Amino acid sequence: MKLLTVITLLLLISTGNIMPQNFNLQKLYDSYSTYKNNSFTKARFKHKDVLKNIKKLKSKKLFKIKMLGKSLEGREINLISIGKGKINVLLWSQMHGDEPTATMALFDLFNFFSADDEFNGFRKELFSKLTLHFIPMLNPDGAEKFKRRNALNIDLNRDAIRLQCPESKILKGIRDSLKPKFGFNLHDQNTRYSAGNSFRSATISFLAPAFNYEKEINEVRGNTMKLIVKLNEALSNFIPGHIAKYNDDFEPRAFGDNFIKWGTSSVLIESGGWKNDAEKQYIRKLNFIALLAGFNAIIKESYKQATIEEYKQIPTNDNLLFDLLLRKLTVKYKNQKYKIDIGINKNQETTADYKDYYNIGKIEDWGDLSIFYGYKEYELEGYEIKKSKIYKLNDKKLEEIDAQELLNKGYGFIELDTNRFADEYTKLPLNIIFKGANPNLNVDYLNFANFTIWKNNKLMFNVVNGCIHDVTSDSCKSKNGLIFKP
Ligand SMILES: [Zn+2]
Repeated sequence: MKLLTVITLLLLISTGNIMPQNFNLQKLYDSYSTYKNNSFTKARFKHKDVLKNIKKLKSKKLFKIKMLGKSLEGREINLISIGKGKINVLLWSQMHGDEPTATMALFDLFNFFSADDEFNGFRKELFSKLTLHFIPMLNPDGAEKFKRRNALNIDLNRDAIRLQCPESKILKGIRDSLKPKFGFNLHDQNTRYSAGNSFRSATISFLAPAFNYEKEINEVRGNTMKLIVKLNEALSNFIPGHIAKYNDDFEPRAFGDNFIKWGTSSVLIESGGWKNDAEKQYIRKLNFIALLAGFNAIIKESYKQATIEEYKQIPTNDNLLFDLLLRKLTVKYKNQKYKIDIGINKNQETTADYKDYYNIGKIEDWGDLSIFYGYKEYELEGYEIKKSKIYKLNDKKLEEIDAQELLNKGYGFIELDTNRFADEYTKLPLNIIFKGANPNLNVDYLNFANFTIWKNNKLMFNVVNGCIHDVTSDSCKSKNGLIFKP
């Protein structure tokens, strides 16, 4: 190194001006935990949790916070702005109350923006070129009950034309006043979408929405597609094969479609499923990464080099996944044997207090499911299905039972004499039947997924409430059993 270069470098270091201008995605991914907002740990957080965090931002000069209005039930909807750039970017999350993943990621982003570290150079460029505007949780009333629609049970994403609800008016109003060049419309999708014809879940899906039935591509939509190519490129480093495109049929009442029509290149990001990530905490991190990669592509204008053809090559969402797929089981019917694949889903049911959920495991399809895939799959040719057994508690207390032992013996249910608690589910890995209840315990299409699996008259697996338990290992990972009441 030449002496002059060394001196210049030393000078730069001493004045603190040497900042890597490069946007290192891997480093960002690796250091995510330092930016993660740890007040969000589960998907069913509420408006008050969001407000608490917004209040904290108020003390920081970096953020401008403006109350845009209130939801039908009177909950504040805020706009958080940052940066001084000419290009406005608008992001909104949780327009559907039960789609919270991106809201958490936005608060991780706020931590990233206010950090002081090796990404300072990137931040400086970001805030000088862009002004970022965020609406976290556009539908707080829906979020309160963890439901899609708002308090009037209107789907806000079908209210972009009539603009009847205050939440919709707020979104349209801010779009009209900011006229953002880019937008990010942040949602969650079915966790069982696959990325094309593949066993891989569509963990993140994108869409450049159509603005007419002909699905024409103008500059606004074209730029959306090009930006998505850059997001896809970024995420492919971490979840290759798990990225897809959402259906692009024109929906005249939806905001995404209308944003394009109104002149904003708005990217739809849908958070889907990832194995063992029921609370979407890993997918939240992917949102964080994708959004920063998106901002980077805008400030560097790298999206301009992407092509629409590349966008078209992203696989489309397909519906090929079950939570659990058991292949080629033997089912007996009138003394005849049938080879049947069983597709089981564990659907989340929100608890009465809206704060948590429990699983309801059901046989959602059976027959020849050879074209489908499972988050978990078992090849069970030659294995036979039988009903699960019912354990009579009699004088014992529920607390005294050894659940693992009962599972290993093929029990799926515990019968209780009394009707002594009102819970909706039990944290035991077994179901409970109150005396007098008479649930249908047959192993059948659309029924609850409770049965045992045998090979050569030896019990091998016990499926309880959709969760498969290998009786040769104490491996039960069930969240809950169900309670059947009279
Ligand atoms: Zn949605």
